[in-house]
Amino acid sequence: MRYSLTSLLKNSLSGHRNWTPAWREPEPRKSYDVVIVGGGHGLATSYYLAKEHGISSVAVLEKGWLGSGNIGRNTTIIRSNYMLPENNPFYEWSMKLWENFEQEFNFNAMISQRGVLNLCHSDAQYDAFARRGNAMRIDGVDAVLLDANGVRSMYPFLDFTGARFPIRGGLLQPRGGTVRHDAVAWAYARGADSRGVDVIQNCEVTGIRIENGKVIGVETTRGFIGCKKLGLAAAGNSSEVAAMAGLRLPIESHVLQAFVSEGLKPYIDGVITFGAGHFYVSQSDKGGLVFGGDIDGYNSYARRGNLPMVEHVIEAGVAMIPGLSRVRVLRSWGGIVDMSMDGTPIIDKTHIDGLYLNAGWCYGGFKATPASGWCFAHTIARNEAHTLSAGFRLDRFRRGYAVDEKGQGATPNLH
Ligand SMILES: Cc1cc2nc3c(=O)[nH]c(=O)nc-3n(C[C@H](O)[C@H](O)[C@H](O)COP(=O)(O)OP(=O)(O)OC[C@H]3O[C@@H](n4cnc5c(N)ncnc54)[C@H](O)[C@@H]3O)c2cc1C
Repeated sequence: MRYSLTSLLKNSLSGHRNWTPAWREPEPRKSYDVVIVGGGHGLATSYYLAKEHGISSVAVLEKGWLGSGNIGRNTTIIRSNYMLPENNPFYEWSMKLWENFEQEFNFNAMISQRGVLNLCHSDAQYDAFARRGNAMRIDGVDAVLLDANGVRSMYPFLDFTGARFPIRGGLLQPRGGTVRHDAVAWAYARGADSRGVDVIQNCEVTGIRIENGKVIGVETTRGFIGCKKLGLAAAGNSSEVAAMAGLRLPIESHVLQAFVSEGLKPYIDGVITFGAGHFYVSQSDKGGLVFGGDIDGYNSYARRGNLPMVEHVIEAGVAMIPGLSRVRVLRSWGGIVDMSMDGTPIIDKTHIDGLYLNAGWCYGGFKATPASGWCFAHTIARNEAHTLSAGFRLDRFRRGYAVDEKGQGATPNLH
């Protein structure tokens, strides 16, 4: 069913009791051409497998409900403000897919290109931002370098005078912004389902069956499901799922927390990130400030964080916007993020025939959802890397060709 003003009016006459479900709840079939583990990037992958490659014998297996993973837990920020040549074209393609997302899916995902502003606090950081902005513009990405007055004209409430870290300027990506996160899961599920993909919730993969070096299917809580090709897109559980096939990944799992404040009057009309610590904030349409910061500093599979990190994040927030100290936090939650050793994701086939890997998104994979699904679908369908994700090969760690955007080295907790 197409969502439109007419369908809304028509359904309102029958008390909204006749809407057809946005996707089916199918029983798993005995086998599929492609099975994908994980209902985040996995949903996007299944959609593009069907749409771009004509492969619709596909099942997405999700152990929880749709949107229960990081796709529904993030702080909703999208951007393509990277510097390295392996990253920029990939994230810019994602941005272009976002820009056409609601039209393509006939679904309101509240895409709001309200601008993402990174603040800087020293001359050296300003120079680094100028360099990144230039790299973005060379790749055709929008970037505007602002001095302190430029930032002040956008956000006069920031602390420009008595601040612990005076604001030197900022790098703005006007096309960056936010997207309602769970709507993305629903739109991809609806789009994939309408093209014949089986989206199967409450179906945990517990084992991977391999015969003669080739994947033949997965053991699940709903029985064995055969497949010719298997894609893993399990985020914070990537290491555990890959271990079922005997793979040891260069990934650590950490919890990342997010926070929402009480509702305030319209106050912050873009996304602002602090440059002297790790803090990012935007304001939702309901008025709550949505914010987050660093990952908790230990490995964990728990979807809840610890109080020291709450204090750390809020300290950074108050250093940037002193007025935040008077705002009450309403709720917080955590998600398990798959931190790779260089902060860059992995989209690749593995040495096992028919087994493909999508992982290592750290805390920045939401904005990548469309491009990640696009490239992973290509890799699965054609058994080769897509040019846009050619820098995300698994063997880069063996070859010593890390894609270390932040220059932090092999320290996942810093990426
Ligand atoms: C608090 C927080 C804030 C964030 N903020 C941002 C942001 O502002 N912008 C941004 O770009 N990124 C952000 N991120 C990161 C982003 O959300 C993730 O990188 C991205 O969503 C990862 O996508 P995914 O498909 O790999 O993971 P997920 O959406 O988590 O999908 C993986 C799915 O696999 C399922 N699964 C795991 N094991 C199994 C199994 N054995 N069987 C079946 N299913 C299984 C899980 O239940 C999960 O639903 C944030 C993350 C968090 C936690």
